[in-house]
Amino acid sequence: RAKKMGRNNTQFYQPAMNEEALERVRIESALRNALERDEFVLHYQPQLDLQSGRVVGMEALIRWQHPELGMVAPGRFIGLAEETGLIVPIGAWVLRTACAQAKAWQDAGHGVLRIAVNLSPRQFSEPKLLAAIAEVLRETGLPPSCLEIELTEGLFMNDVALAVELLHKLKALGLALSIDDFGTGYSSFSYLRRFPIDVLKIDRSFISDIGEGDEAAIVVSIIALAHNLKLRVIAEGVETAAQLDYLRRNGCDEIQGYYFSPPVPPIEFERMLIDGKSLQPALV
Ligand code: C2E
Ligand code: MG
Ligand code: MG
Ligand code: MG
Repeated sequence: RAKKMGRNNTQFYQPAMNEEALERVRIESALRNALERDEFVLHYQPQLDLQSGRVVGMEALIRWQHPELGMVAPGRFIGLAEETGLIVPIGAWVLRTACAQAKAWQDAGHGVLRIAVNLSPRQFSEPKLLAAIAEVLRETGLPPSCLEIELTEGLFMNDVALAVELLHKLKALGLALSIDDFGTGYSSFSYLRRFPIDVLKIDRSFISDIGEGDEAAIVVSIIALAHNLKLRVIAEGVETAAQLDYLRRNGCDEIQGYYFSPPVPPIEFERMLIDGKSLQPALV
């Protein structure tokens, strides 16, 4: 059929494209089913205060417990969820589940723990976002000050005025806002002053460079920048004692990373809380 229409006709390539489109449709409906069948789970990674050495919060990270594929990492489906818009209902599930879990741990006497939830750009442009978050806070009873929303720098590339307005409305709910993967995205420092941000999360790539000379200067600079702007600063992806030591000596507020714990299922996280697992406090 393609031959009849001529060699240069784009029809010639149609089969391959159809396959790609079909694959996407397949994944989209698989994601939709996953939500209906309750196949998503949240793992939690502790965040530790470097002064006290104690767990002060946790980041909720989604996984897909696929009946055949096993545990699927978010890197393999968040992008597609984003493109198809399914991130909106999936993200709503994440927010509700994470807030309910944090409240349950508080009620069980594990102290005031903060819960950090990732928000994708697509969710950010969802008109009902504000109402949805307010409703989750009300229904779960989690104090708004215990919720931290993680945003990425890409968010600030679109309509800046609109973004500033929405961030102020989010802040008015009483929650905290953090910039995830700081230093890797659209790096304009102007938004740091304009946007009501509370926390900078130093991207893992800068932390893994600690001990490699020059690169550590970036980490020190981000810590100084954060503190000058009265922001809290968290180092992501801390894997070694040397990195931890460096961050502590340079005044970083909090850490998160495999050195202390990877993201773990709720039952294991709770075990950590019960055992009072912590870091050696700073020797001040
Ligand atoms: P992120 O928000 O920057 O999360 C941190 C990622 O780094 C997590 O990967 C975590 O497992 C990993 N990590 C933590 N400590 C270490 C470490 O010491 N070493 C190394 N090598 N990695 C570490 P994960 O769970 O695979 O998530 C990947 C990304 O997927 C997240 O990056 C986030 O952007 C996205 N994501 C995860 N859950 C959600 C969600 O519920 N909603 C949205 N919109 N995005 C999510
Ligand atoms: Mg994050
Ligand atoms: Mg990150
Ligand atoms: Mg990331």
